[in-house]
Amino acid sequence: MAEPGTLEKLVSLCKRRGFVYPGSEIYGGLTGTWDYGPLGVELLRNIKNAWWHDNVTARDDIVGLDSAILMNRTVWQASGHEDAFTDPLIDCKACKARFRADQIAESACPRKPSKHPGEFAECQLTEARKFNLMFKTFVGPVEESAATVYLRPETAQGMFVNFKNVCDSTRVKLPFGIAQIGKAFRNEITPKQFIFRSREFELMEIEFFCKPETSQEWYRTWQDTRFAWYQSLGLKGSNLRLREHAKEELAFYSRGTSDIEYQFPWGWGELEGIAHRGDYDLSQHQKFSGKDLTYFDDETKERFLPHVIEPAAGATRATLAFLCEAYAEEQVEGETRTVLRLSPRLAPVKAAIFPLVKKEGMPERAMAICNDLKKHWPVFYDEKGAVGRRYRRQDEAGTPFCLTVDGQTAQDQTVTVRERDSMTQTRIGVDHIRNFLIERLID
Ligand code: ATP
Repeated sequence: MAEPGTLEKLVSLCKRRGFVYPGSEIYGGLTGTWDYGPLGVELLRNIKNAWWHDNVTARDDIVGLDSAILMNRTVWQASGHEDAFTDPLIDCKACKARFRADQIAESACPRKPSKHPGEFAECQLTEARKFNLMFKTFVGPVEESAATVYLRPETAQGMFVNFKNVCDSTRVKLPFGIAQIGKAFRNEITPKQFIFRSREFELMEIEFFCKPETSQEWYRTWQDTRFAWYQSLGLKGSNLRLREHAKEELAFYSRGTSDIEYQFPWGWGELEGIAHRGDYDLSQHQKFSGKDLTYFDDETKERFLPHVIEPAAGATRATLAFLCEAYAEEQVEGETRTVLRLSPRLAPVKAAIFPLVKKEGMPERAMAICNDLKKHWPVFYDEKGAVGRRYRRQDEAGTPFCLTVDGQTAQDQTVTVRERDSMTQTRIGVDHIRNFLIERLID
């Protein structure tokens, strides 16, 4: 588990180095929104790309989709979100604070932080009432109920409503999945813990359709596959766990749900939910749309509604988990070195290129290497200050390799490669740099 205080240090590093800034900051901010800076946008994109590659590109049973954020309102009536996507909300009439009823035990009274809301004499808590988490807006110029639409709170429904389109326009055969990455919006009552719970975030979801009789097996397979994915990108097994929901926690249609949880600096938190949703979604959309959403099996000549397994992961929440896992401080030669030990696959900048000094043709040689590598990866050229300081700056950004051009480069066409984690330095030929990086950046 990360050291206490790691979250505060991480938030500060993220701001200082351009990973994540508070949303709308110069106007006092907007609670629950975050902006991803130059390094953060690369990290987030690398996480999404790794997910897409491993689940879509590298498999032959999953196809991709990018559906609209705004959807016909009936979608959310069919899915049950309009009625039931609610959290229980409690207000305090004395201090005007709001709490999620199911999180009172983890919340502090704003006026008396040593007590929970309701325990301080001045607290005046209301009864819990249902609060719908979907953001409402209107299409067209008239703000009337017939024009109501919602900002999607998940990407899943876009995949269900396109099930027939995908079946009709591709050669998919059961079992197969549809995958989608995109923004989701939830009007969270208490956004908190940095980017862990925000009001606008990104999801990476798969709807994996299969025959009902194979669904339990697929449910288990997806639990293992998704757990292994986080490990392959650097999250330690001891910081991950799979929590199977008890029967009482399940939605009425669910045949099983489990969460992959990560040990964040404040404790265990959900990274991804894997749900066996039976045929609930397709049957609801079939009912509300009046369209036949059954699948025809060529071999058995049967027509039926497939079952679905849904691994739903938060891309922005995963970003926080990877950052927490990567963050380390260590003593090196009497100084504290802050380093982000991100998997090279996720690191925002893959290599930094330095001339040892700004003379004797070193900047030109270093720049030529930099320009060559830029064709393939985000790399960074830096000639300012002592080389030790330049290493430290790259350590904080998570850059796995630094390449230094020095006096020897002109003589034997080699550069020094300094590795972020071990800090070891070796020499390799300029001609080998690209292959050296390919071997280490592609798993
Ligand atoms: P929670 O219990 O934390 O509110 P949930 O069970 O409602 O989450 P799901 O609906 O299963 O979450 O969403 C799938 C994934 O989306 C979660 O595992 C999480 O990674 C991510 N996620 C959900 N809500 C948020 C949020 N407000 N901010 C960032 N990520 C989120």
